[in-house]
Amino acid sequence: MKAAFIDKSRSLNIIDKDIPLIKPGEALVKVHMCGVCGTDIHIYEGVMPWAKLPLIPGHELSGVVVDVGRYVDSVSVGDAVTVDPNITCGLCRYCRSAKRNLCPKMESIGVTRDGGFAEYVVVPISQLYRVPSGLSLDEAAFTEPVACCLHGIARLSIKPGEDVLIVGAGPIGLIHLQLAKRTGAGRVIVAEVNDMRLKLAEKLGADLTVNPSREVVAETINGFLKGKGVEVAIDAAGGSTPLTLALNCLEPDGRLLVFGVASENDAWPIKPYDIYKHELTIIGSFINPYEMDSALNLLASGAVDVKPLISHIISLNDLEKALKREIPNTIKILVKP
Ligand SMILES: [Zn+2]
Ligand SMILES: [Zn+2]
Repeated sequence: MKAAFIDKSRSLNIIDKDIPLIKPGEALVKVHMCGVCGTDIHIYEGVMPWAKLPLIPGHELSGVVVDVGRYVDSVSVGDAVTVDPNITCGLCRYCRSAKRNLCPKMESIGVTRDGGFAEYVVVPISQLYRVPSGLSLDEAAFTEPVACCLHGIARLSIKPGEDVLIVGAGPIGLIHLQLAKRTGAGRVIVAEVNDMRLKLAEKLGADLTVNPSREVVAETINGFLKGKGVEVAIDAAGGSTPLTLALNCLEPDGRLLVFGVASENDAWPIKPYDIYKHELTIIGSFINPYEMDSALNLLASGAVDVKPLISHIISLNDLEKALKREIPNTIKILVKP
């Protein structure tokens, strides 16, 4: 089979290798689509300490089961599936207390073991979710990122009518936008430096879009909301600059979700006095423990529409270009191996 293989940082080769063998409790999935995510770029650049090289990356995938190992009766050959890439131990205190996304023994398909940028991938059946009828496999490749966003939104518990700022209008920001609207947010404002992405945010229901390279976001929001800030801010960009921007737009008693992946060496200067005086809450959100089914439901019902997010469908041969950020005007790039 053809596979994209990273042996060391900034070195990706398309190789020919044997189709992997399955063990009892596993299935062989023929990959239909695998989304390119910021995490893949970090793995390629060698700044994802969690990743284990050499590796076939790719963790946002959909496909069809083509073989099953012994002791498998929950899926059959021919089933259309999507994959929860995060395999947890089930035994640690996090796994046993409904916080399995914090499992210290976690293995992740496409991060610590071979993933979906290949024609075939081996998946333990605990990680497989059947794709509901009516949902295309292109859309099903978004299940994991939608599940992660759902986890973040759940941690924020947005109350009906609360105004929300989303910083970043990449695929994650645009999913958060739709989820925030669905959970009853008042006005949803999106800040983003790329005008093409801002236009799409507007189409997907943003009440106000702001470009921080031209405007002072806090001032524009203050004008739009007639003298107030937002109750909730979501960083869907990653790093200290968008976090500072988001924090500056919060009302007293506001909540900030740290969702975007910052580089490991990034540090964020904040004024403890501001957190204290305005009773601000900073909330982290890491992958998702149990949101895959809900994400599939939202995708299948159309409540979250990811079709407009697909900007490019590429082959494995163009993956390295994507990881080098050499493809212009992207929202979500899907790879069809
Ligand atoms: Zn991802
Ligand atoms: Zn565990």
